[in-house]
Amino acid sequence: MRSLYAKLVIITLSIMVISGLVAFLSVNTYYHQVLKGRNDEKNMAIAESMAAFIDTNEAISLEAYLRTQAAAGYKLYVVDEQKEISLYGAPFRDNNLSEQSIDHVLRGEAYHGMRNLPSETFVTGFFSDESANTVGVPFTYEGKGYALFLRPDIKMLFTEVHFLLAGMVVIMTVISLLAMLIVAKKLIDPITELTRATKKVGEEQFTGELHIHRQDEIGQLAQSFLQMTERLDENDRMRKEFISDVSHDFQSPLLNIKGYADLLAADELTEASRKSYANVIQAETERLSSLTQQLLLLTSLDQLVSPLERKRFRLDEQLKESIRKYRWLLAEKNMSLSMDLDEVSMTGDPAFLEKVWENLVSNALKYTDVDGEIDIGLTVYENQVKVTVQDNGIGMDEKSITRIFDRFYRVDDSRTREIGGTGLGLAIVQQVVKLHGGTVDVVSKKGEGTTFTVFLPIG
Ligand code: ADP
Repeated sequence: MRSLYAKLVIITLSIMVISGLVAFLSVNTYYHQVLKGRNDEKNMAIAESMAAFIDTNEAISLEAYLRTQAAAGYKLYVVDEQKEISLYGAPFRDNNLSEQSIDHVLRGEAYHGMRNLPSETFVTGFFSDESANTVGVPFTYEGKGYALFLRPDIKMLFTEVHFLLAGMVVIMTVISLLAMLIVAKKLIDPITELTRATKKVGEEQFTGELHIHRQDEIGQLAQSFLQMTERLDENDRMRKEFISDVSHDFQSPLLNIKGYADLLAADELTEASRKSYANVIQAETERLSSLTQQLLLLTSLDQLVSPLERKRFRLDEQLKESIRKYRWLLAEKNMSLSMDLDEVSMTGDPAFLEKVWENLVSNALKYTDVDGEIDIGLTVYENQVKVTVQDNGIGMDEKSITRIFDRFYRVDDSRTREIGGTGLGLAIVQQVVKLHGGTVDVVSKKGEGTTFTVFLPIG
């Protein structure tokens, strides 16, 4: 696997090479299409002015004049009528000027080698140091005809400015490359750190730290990653707790059942003992069954897709119906019940909401002593309803209140232990209310009583 860093370096280098090539090809095309002609014209004008000067100044020394011109940065190739060649300036790399071209100029015609030279290579034209790559003009000196061929001496024309420019390009390239390497490293380092952290999460280690303090997209990614690991950590902790709670809650009734089943198997057993053991087994089995049902209900509420099947129904009638189920218990404990219910229809899942009222009312009954009082209220507001279940039972202290909606939490005192329960009822209440977009609150004082208040949108 090639690393992101190597990829970035290779891509940047490739871009630099490709852009260099494209630039070279474009410049080359421009040279051939436009500059070549202009260059030929410019050099032709110089050659013509030299020829005109010689033609009109018979008194000068031809030799000295041409040498001076060569020193100014030109390569000169002069042929007289006897085909005698004189060269001024640095020699040509290739002396390939044709006999025909020389005759052509000696006959008085101009020679446009710079414009017409076919381009064999990309560099060609401008740099190709050949005698054929020149412009040619005729001139006369002391009554004799000459052909003068000329091209600039590129080496001499490369001045300090050109070196400075070339130096600038090299320095720019080196700096861009180094900067790119540093920037790429700065960009990739946090990604590498995130990858390492992700691997740790894969191994169920949620406590790793990230040292990424940036405001950009990578910083946001790191932030989201941290939030995700925190939630995973919390979920993991809750899952472990949940499993240990479930195991514990299943373990004690199962042990009871086993113990009493063993006792039942004994040979000598009075009728009364047999009945009492069987009752314990029955009670524990019921407890296990209700625990399983509540767990299944909670699992269905935990699904990502809402399990609610909403429809319109009369909430006041549902509340009355739920309370009716507990009439016998009210009578048994000699408790009084008052109801003040507004008539209202709401949209929600009646089956799940029924569990809410069942849990709240059964808790009020369970945690209130004989002769106690329970008040149930339903008030309609503009777009929501308020249901209150109030009792004057055993109440709770402040510390317990913060935890009663946790799964398996039961207030740890002798009274509660005596009463028995699963600790799942209020977790179900909270989850159902939440799925309906509502809230549930509790106000309670130890020894004085408890009030649960549920707000639900009418829908
Ligand atoms: P449980 O099955 O134990 O009743 P819940 O989730 O319904 O489980 O309630 C959690 C705990 O909250 C109970 O164990 C109890 O201690 C406390 N609680 C709930 N309702 C009341 C109430 N009306 N009065 C006093 N304590 C209550």
